[in-house]
Amino acid sequence: MKITDNCIGCSACSCLCPCNAIEMVVNSNGFINAKVDADKCVGCNKCVNACKCVHSSADSTFVQAYHAYLNNDVIRMGSSSGGVFSALAQAIIKKSGVVFGAAFNEKNEVEHVFVTESDELHKLRGSKYIQSNIASSFADVKNYLENGVEVLFSGTPCQVSGLLSFLGKDYDNLTTVDLICHGVTSPGFWKDYLKVLSKSKNISDVNFRDKITGWHRFSFSYRKNGKKIEKLFIDDPFCFLFDKHYLLNTTCFECEFAGKPHKADITLGDFWGVEKYTELFDDNKGVSLCFVNTDKGAKMLNEAENLCLTKVDGEQAIKSNHTAPAKMPEGYNAFWEMYNEFGVKKVINTYFYNTRFKRVKLLIKSFLVKTKLIKIFIK
Ligand SMILES: Cc1cc2nc3c(=O)[nH]c(=O)nc-3n(C[C@H](O)[C@H](O)[C@H](O)COP(=O)(O)OP(=O)(O)OC[C@H]3O[C@@H](n4cnc5c(N)ncnc54)[C@H](O)[C@@H]3O)c2cc1C
Ligand code: SF4
Ligand code: SF4
Ligand code: SF4
Repeated sequence: MKITDNCIGCSACSCLCPCNAIEMVVNSNGFINAKVDADKCVGCNKCVNACKCVHSSADSTFVQAYHAYLNNDVIRMGSSSGGVFSALAQAIIKKSGVVFGAAFNEKNEVEHVFVTESDELHKLRGSKYIQSNIASSFADVKNYLENGVEVLFSGTPCQVSGLLSFLGKDYDNLTTVDLICHGVTSPGFWKDYLKVLSKSKNISDVNFRDKITGWHRFSFSYRKNGKKIEKLFIDDPFCFLFDKHYLLNTTCFECEFAGKPHKADITLGDFWGVEKYTELFDDNKGVSLCFVNTDKGAKMLNEAENLCLTKVDGEQAIKSNHTAPAKMPEGYNAFWEMYNEFGVKKVINTYFYNTRFKRVKLLIKSFLVKTKLIKIFIK
């Protein structure tokens, strides 16, 4: 097997290669992947060992799970679930530390950046459902750690695994946070989709988890030339195709971290299914399911301020969430072949608008059958 066969684009191998033989490139489906230049390679196997390490889950399970939310409605409403990430980040910043996470840049591409001030934290807040470009983050993390600075690194479970593999040793001043993750979408497809959305107009403030319609039934929103446009998540073509798994990376269908112990100190997700627990708070503004995986994670959670925490049975709570890798949808390969040959508009018409139209037709038909009105129409 080649390291690039199951690449999640973490960049650990590329940072470790002593010969600069590994470049992070964009594949035909628009995902970031490692590419080895055989002419430069000296066969040291550093990349192979690092990659093996990236693709292994942790060997022990979580310590404690919590129903958790931040006691600050403004920040919580700007966060995807309960705003726990912001509380953890704030605790690190208070110690003059650095927080790494995924942010949109001015071109609306998603990349890992770091912030050192509370008023910059909004950049990292909220889920961007696109594969994030790690860029120079791993090297930057190492640099800060070696200089004794407290670091909080947040990302998908595979990115955290990549970072730990790259570092190759424990650092007391590093804390990691990952997510319950069912997959990332293609940055290349997203770039093409933005062109469909905007033509020549300016797009800003993209929000995949706008709580304007509540946390349980969230919306997708953005600004076009300053004007806010919002629709239910599932009514946007990009979000619909993400939800149906067409836009996921192939590696996500075999994710090593789904339902298995994570390597990060803390794992955050949405507390989906919270409504089943009458004793637990749910005001439709968002609640996190927070797993503490290590002692360091427990210490970090203890240091975070303004959090409302209730212990829950983690095994039970996760049942309403992702416990297995996302399933590859039927026609996944045909979808990408069509995208590669005809572009984003054609796949949106075929897999979103046509599907929607068919569904509406079926719904009308079933209504007519139920109400027996169909007989009148047939007559
Ligand atoms: C791609 C993706 C898939 C997810 N799938 C699920 C799921 O199936 N079930 C579930 O319960 N929760 C899922 N989540 C997690 C959930 O949406 C929230 O991020 C989590 O509950 C933390 O919420 P919060 O309110 O504490 O903080 P928030 O402020 O919402 O969290 C922001 C954090 O997410 C990180 N982040 C955002 N986008 C990315 C990205 N593209 N790549 C890497 N890190 C990113 C930021 O770095 C930041 O640390 C997913 C998140 C992402 C990014
Ligand atoms: S180490 Fe990361 S970037 Fe390199 S091949 Fe493996 S998964 Fe891909
Ligand atoms: S085997 Fe060594 S030299 Fe070759 S690509 Fe991997 S890390 Fe670089
Ligand atoms: S589903 Fe797994 S492989 Fe895909 S982004 Fe999430 S952690 Fe990485």
